[in-house]
Amino acid sequence: MKSKQPESYRELFRGNFFLGDFFGEAKCRYGHETRLFNIGRGHFVACDSCRTYIFVGSNLMSCWREENKDIWQRNSDSVEGYEFIE
Ligand SMILES: [Zn+2]
Repeated sequence: MKSKQPESYRELFRGNFFLGDFFGEAKCRYGHETRLFNIGRGHFVACDSCRTYIFVGSNLMSCWREENKDIWQRNSDSVEGYEFIE
């Protein structure tokens, strides 16, 4: 049963990811290399070794504006079959 907790250290972990102070700092807790990418205005971090990815926020950086649907499609394809960790 989920109890009500203040924001705690534990909540910085999501699946195999450790979320740092900044959304772009999400790291794999197993030390794998991670990559940050956008799909539209949404930012995601993926670990290619664990084949998992997480959503870290949206519209926090403006770089997505310089991207286009082809890039987002490629990014989306790049995590095809990966587990999305909520
Ligand atoms: Zn990993």
